[in-house]
Amino acid sequence: MIEKYAEIIGEDELDSIVKIAEKLKGVSVLHINSTPSGGGVAEILSKLVPLMRELGIETDWKVIRGDKDFFTVTKSFHNSLQNGFGELPKGAFEIYNKWQEINGNELDLDYDIIFIHDPQPAGLIKFRKKGKWIWRCHIDISNPYEPVWNFLKQYVQQYDSIIISSPVFGRDDLIKPQYIVPPSIDPLSIKNRPIPEITVRRILYKFDVDPDRPIITQVSRFDRAKDPLGVIKTYKLVKRHTDVQLVYVGSPASDDPEGEIVYNETVQAAGSDKDIKLLMLPPNSDLEINAFQRGATIVMQKSIKEGFGLTVSEALWKEKPVIGGNTGGIPLQVINNVTGYLVTTPEEAAHYTLYLLRNTNIRERLGKNGKEHVRKNFLITRELRDYLMVASLTGS
Ligand code: UDP
Repeated sequence: MIEKYAEIIGEDELDSIVKIAEKLKGVSVLHINSTPSGGGVAEILSKLVPLMRELGIETDWKVIRGDKDFFTVTKSFHNSLQNGFGELPKGAFEIYNKWQEINGNELDLDYDIIFIHDPQPAGLIKFRKKGKWIWRCHIDISNPYEPVWNFLKQYVQQYDSIIISSPVFGRDDLIKPQYIVPPSIDPLSIKNRPIPEITVRRILYKFDVDPDRPIITQVSRFDRAKDPLGVIKTYKLVKRHTDVQLVYVGSPASDDPEGEIVYNETVQAAGSDKDIKLLMLPPNSDLEINAFQRGATIVMQKSIKEGFGLTVSEALWKEKPVIGGNTGGIPLQVINNVTGYLVTTPEEAAHYTLYLLRNTNIRERLGKNGKEHVRKNFLITRELRDYLMVASLTGS
């Protein structure tokens, strides 16, 4: 299976990955996160873990458990760390610690190298018995809400090294090594591999979307950081001038209890416009996501806060120009007038959407550049190599 990537990345690149992996033979690796599906982390782990195993590295993936209170707390951490302000549920730190305790006692943590993904399981470091621990932070921690960051930092400081997604997230108050590893997409997955035009059309028809009229698509959980209301506003501004449809595809994640509330807010903002499709697909609707991204005329990722935004690379890989929020990891992917446009307000987003809808040749140019940019920088094989490097550097 792994040799199939050679066609995309070249033999030399693949050989270098195999060579690094050889150094880790006999080492046991564990990844821990907080949801088996939904969101970018689960997406990456579901591809990365099998590849690590295929390279002969003994790799496991475990998911912590928690109740609604715990995930409400961790979502408030997530929001306040990214927004710089926040409101925490009563007893937040105690609830967080209680579930670290429960998971720490239940999980077998007897591994040589442990990657802990994001804040939700970060406190498990208290239960380290052996091995090197790496905190892999997928979110924007450049301007965190201090009370939450100070709480989390007591754990983060105990890790042997830290991985962040973009240089702009680097923190001067951490003394351990901080490695920069942007996330990635799997070009061979059902979500990203080429599919026939007829399949794209069939899926669009199934959801009552007309493949022959222009389409703006955003694929995102219903989360305020993804600015669904800003997307609706953008669409409404564009719609004043030209025919267009909006498809917002979201799906629930078990560690995100806010999805339903935000979905309802979005439904209300959309009103009765028949050209707005707000779709709540079941998790793992990968073929549908592939089709919606390929069927789009323009892909939007109008986030207000974003760790990376895998959906951006997914769209660029499908040669779609992306209008992306100028935040977090999006500027690594959206380069102005090269792969898309960076925006802040719905007005800016509407301006560039109209510009792209009116200029097929520019859409094509940006789309081609986008695919090449992802091929060079944001494919799973590059992230795999980086993880192996960090594992060997941290382990040695
Ligand atoms: N996703 C999906 N179905 C949806 C919404 C999102 O499969 O309805 C996927 C999306 O294709 C991407 C991941 O979930 O692979 C979201 O990752 P991203 O980094 O964009 O955002 P996150 O949810 O991690 O904040």
